[in-house]
Amino acid sequence: MALSEFALIDRYFKHIGPRLDSTLVGIGDDCAVLRPPADPLLLVTTDTLVENIHFLASVDPESLGHKTLAVNLSDLAAMGATPKWVTLALTLPEVNESWIEAFTRGFSALAERYRVQLIGGDMTQGPLSITVQALGTGSDERILYRSAARPGDRIFLTGTIGDAGLALKYLKDRNERCSRALLDRLERPQPRIEAGQLIGGLASACIDISDGFAADLGHVLDASNAGATVDWNLIPLSAPVRQYVEQSGDSRLPLCAGDDYELCFTVPEAREEELIRRIATLPYPCQRIGTIDQRPGLRIENRVPGLDLTTSGFEHFS
Ligand code: ADP
Ligand code: MG
Repeated sequence: MALSEFALIDRYFKHIGPRLDSTLVGIGDDCAVLRPPADPLLLVTTDTLVENIHFLASVDPESLGHKTLAVNLSDLAAMGATPKWVTLALTLPEVNESWIEAFTRGFSALAERYRVQLIGGDMTQGPLSITVQALGTGSDERILYRSAARPGDRIFLTGTIGDAGLALKYLKDRNERCSRALLDRLERPQPRIEAGQLIGGLASACIDISDGFAADLGHVLDASNAGATVDWNLIPLSAPVRQYVEQSGDSRLPLCAGDDYELCFTVPEAREEELIRRIATLPYPCQRIGTIDQRPGLRIENRVPGLDLTTSGFEHFS
């Protein structure tokens, strides 16, 4: 017999993530009750993933559980916040216990890793859709806004870009070149929490790349009223993406495809050395790719042939 909603919650959702001292009541009452954090700022973000729009119906539920939490933690990472609590609203077409078991396994592993506690949520019946809200804490000196990039600031990028976009393209084309490692970049993005925290207090502006590098750097430029020049040769690409670009001439894919969940941030020249020292401890690459300038728009220098971009700006990427 299928478990009741309450039995499902008890079994699969009640003990996700650590039990934080600042959580007086988590799952089980009408509201979660939290003790306001010692850090002066509370940061809140929410993201919904809908089947066939944000993920393919074929994705395995464990990866989906990971990704729904990861995309929210990525927003906290981009602000330099420390993740603390999450809520989870699940709309499911049917109660399928093995699906829920796998989904919560993926969600839970990531929650443990970053010490985020699941403190509430909702379950409804309907087309598969998942909404997570994440709360984090921070301090005025360390929070990173999109609007604080200034001409002369250096632009940095964590990891590599285009991998998720290439995986999605290969999946859609049923191309057997899509390795497990490449597919993981699409289905199991790693929120760059450590990077966000390391650069807090040093970086000027930061954003996470969810809609594509050009579009998201464009948001920083818009918000900061600035432009940027990026050197194509400095943009970190993985071996499969580099090979794809070389063979197809399509350099739009790494620049414009979404779902990378890397961080792109800026740092004033005077703090660049200190920043480089700090990011050397990160377990993933993080490198300088360009400079913020006064002239509006995004310019890509040394771009490979096949990339048709005018110099007038990032709106051409959309
Ligand atoms: P109410 O009817 O008062 O909104 P529910 O019966 O929906 O409460 O939920 C009971 C408890 O279980 C609440 O604490 C709620 O936050 C929690 N809960 C329900 N669904 C989920 C879920 N998918 N994940 C985490 N907690 C959940
Ligand atoms: Mg209630």
